Amino acid sequence: MYFGLIDDIVKKSKNLDDEKIKEEIQKKFRMNGLVLANVEVIKMMDTSLNEGASNIVPVALKKDGEINESKSNSIKEEEFERLQEKVRETIKQIGNEILSGKIDIKPYNYNKHTGCDYCEYKSICNFNPNLKNNTYNYIRKTK
Ligand code: SF4
Repeated sequence: MYFGLIDDIVKKSKNLDDEKIKEEIQKKFRMNGLVLANVEVIKMMDTSLNEGASNIVPVALKKDGEINESKSNSIKEEEFERLQEKVRETIKQIGNEILSGKIDIKPYNYNKHTGCDYCEYKSICNFNPNLKNNTYNYIRKTK
C-alpha cells in the first residue's frame, strides 16, 4: 500500500473543531492498495477499527464486524496468491522480452499519469508522444 505525502487542505463549509479537522486530514492519508480479507489482520493494521470505514486502510467493517466488501479493497488469500503468481509470470515475460531485444521506449499511461511525470531522464531520453512511433503503454483498470 501507499499514500500521498502532500499535506492536503481540509475544505469544508461548516465550522469544524480540531478533532474533526484531524479526522478529515487522517482520511486524506488513507492508504491505497489491497488488503488481505482477514478481519484479524485488518484490525492489526488499524487498531481503532471496530465498525465503519477505516481512516488508515481501504477497508470498512459492517456492524457484525465482517468486512463490507463493496466498500473495501480487500481480496482473499487465494486471490492474493493468484495475483502474486500473475505478477511473477508478467515479470518473467518482460525479462524474456528484454533479453530477446524488445526494449521499446513505452512508458505507462494510466488515467493521464505517466511514467515520465517525475522521471529524471526526461531531458535525455527523447520520448515525445507527438512523434509517430512514440506511444505510451496505456493501462486500463479491468475491474
Ligand atoms: S522520460 Fe523517458 S526514460 Fe523517463 S519514463 Fe519517460 S520515456 Fe522512460
